[in-house]
Amino acid sequence: MHLSILYRGSLISCNYGCQYCPFAKKQQSAIELAKDKQELTKFINWIEQNQQHDFSILFTPWGEALIHDWYQQALIRLTNLPNVKKAAIQTNLSCKLDWVEDCDKNKLALWATFHPEWVKRDRYLSQCLELYRRQVSFSAGVVGFPQFKSEIATLRQELPDDVYLWINAVKKELPNMSKADLEFFEAIDPLFPLNTHHYPSRDRSCKAGKSVISVDGDGNMRRCHFIKQPIGNIYHSNWESVLGDRLCTNETCHCHIGYVHLDYLELDKVFGERILERIPVRNEE
Ligand code: SF4
Ligand code: SF4
Repeated sequence: MHLSILYRGSLISCNYGCQYCPFAKKQQSAIELAKDKQELTKFINWIEQNQQHDFSILFTPWGEALIHDWYQQALIRLTNLPNVKKAAIQTNLSCKLDWVEDCDKNKLALWATFHPEWVKRDRYLSQCLELYRRQVSFSAGVVGFPQFKSEIATLRQELPDDVYLWINAVKKELPNMSKADLEFFEAIDPLFPLNTHHYPSRDRSCKAGKSVISVDGDGNMRRCHFIKQPIGNIYHSNWESVLGDRLCTNETCHCHIGYVHLDYLELDKVFGERILERIPVRNEE
């Protein structure tokens, strides 16, 4: 069996201070961080012990994880395991990047978000170019606030053509945006319109809970990050028995890490093998 896992442990802190974010500049105590590290180690040990299955893992932390060496070590360990097909992480890309050389770079991927109100474009770009030079796959992206348009346009010019730059739609702002703003975002990211919807999902078939799950620091399994009811725990025996077809119980799904698994959208045709790290097939050609 191949299972994709979206892992989110106890980390809820960040070195950046983005205005719209609940984790902005939030700090955690040494005890809280030690708990996160312990949970992560247990999770990786579990992946290593479950050699009968193949895994792809995307870390979706609340906050910034890669500034902590235990997440860097986690990616090194995971990418070097034979039963791991991919290990990816969402990051603000503020950390040093030399550790990537100890990863199996064929299996490593980064989902790297630019936060123009918090970091200079030059700094973010130089980090992207370092990843590019080190031959690490990554998607770059920005939240689509119109006030960032000029930074976004320049970033697009500066990034290599084959680096995908996604724009996350700010759904509640969309009705207030001008046609020109929307056209601008689509010119930067041809897939921007895909991210502008709340997709109807109730009673629709979704891979979440079958071939992709979310896991927290205690090992609780959920179908996805958006349905809170646990379906099992990876540290219990027969954890696999809970996986199977279920219809979505939410009315809509609007986040990339969720709706890409809705069967009727067929977004595996758009993102192929790189659906977790959000790199469309055309950027691989
Ligand atoms: S970098 Fe990400 S986690 Fe950190 S404050 Fe900004 S949006 Fe929040
Ligand atoms: S459609 Fe979205 S909310 Fe529903 S199960 Fe899939 S990922 Fe979860």
